[in-house]
Amino acid sequence: MRAVIVKAPNELELVDDWPEPECGPDEVIIRMRTVGICGTDLSAIAGHLRPITEPRVIGHEGGGEIVKVGANVTDRCVGQRVVIENNFPCMECEFCTAGRSSLCPNMKGPRLLAEYAAAPARFTWPVADSVSDIALGCIEPLTVGYAAVKRSGIRAGQDAFIIGAGSVGQLVAQSLKAIGAQGWVQDPHEGRVQTAVALGAKVASDYQGEDFPFVFETSGVAAMWNVGLGKLRRGGHFTAIGLATGSTVDLDPLDVVFRQLTIRGNMIYDHPTDFGEVLAAMADGTLVAEAPVQARYTFDQSLEAIAKVREIPGKSVIEF
Ligand SMILES: [Zn+2]
Ligand SMILES: [Zn+2]
Repeated sequence: MRAVIVKAPNELELVDDWPEPECGPDEVIIRMRTVGICGTDLSAIAGHLRPITEPRVIGHEGGGEIVKVGANVTDRCVGQRVVIENNFPCMECEFCTAGRSSLCPNMKGPRLLAEYAAAPARFTWPVADSVSDIALGCIEPLTVGYAAVKRSGIRAGQDAFIIGAGSVGQLVAQSLKAIGAQGWVQDPHEGRVQTAVALGAKVASDYQGEDFPFVFETSGVAAMWNVGLGKLRRGGHFTAIGLATGSTVDLDPLDVVFRQLTIRGNMIYDHPTDFGEVLAAMADGTLVAEAPVQARYTFDQSLEAIAKVREIPGKSVIEF
């Protein structure tokens, strides 16, 4: 089958002879329809997330149509359109059984930027006809933003400072709006700021208050931690989402103690609650997954799509 593979750090190739995935007894095979591309793909392609020891398919946001079901699968069928919940926790360890599957040390992930992908049936979510094919490439990152907002404990009517208006910052802004809270965004890239504003954020420089009860750090720039903590109100809550690789932060522990700040690291989402809640919010129109899409490519244009992903202020998707 055709697939986009990474062979070595920053070495990508679109091949047409990649082996098709096998369908395990608890799995389904999906003919991919849409794959979203994000900055995490660039980190993975560069080998920052885990070493590239052998060629592998990239891509972690997407969905399509089931074309095969495993012997033990009774609740999915051929022809169903599904979105793939991209991280496959074990659902047996102490974290998974406590509802914190995002902490699972046995996490696996699918490889989606190929004609076909295999996934455990339980991590595929059938979608209604009202969910567009394009949305299939946007639901996974939206759930990341949604879960970060939910875990922070922010409520309707409260304000949050969002550092970074890349795709995660935009999706945090959209998720805040969905619960009636307000995100205030800061980013050096004007196009990204405008995209976040279109999704419900306001520009941080227009904020009238002195400080914020909540901060979401999505830029992945370590130096922004102290900017964010400096904007935080006494008793405030700082959520770190951006992947600040290869750098450290100088924190003032006394300040954290005296002002009773909460600093929380945040990764992905928990199974099955977060995906289920996002799909429900999409069904009632509270969340619009495809709203950030600004660039659409064919599968043949995959390498171009990946090369340009940082130039696009909104979301890039590849359609098969
Ligand atoms: Zn992503
Ligand atoms: Zn687990």
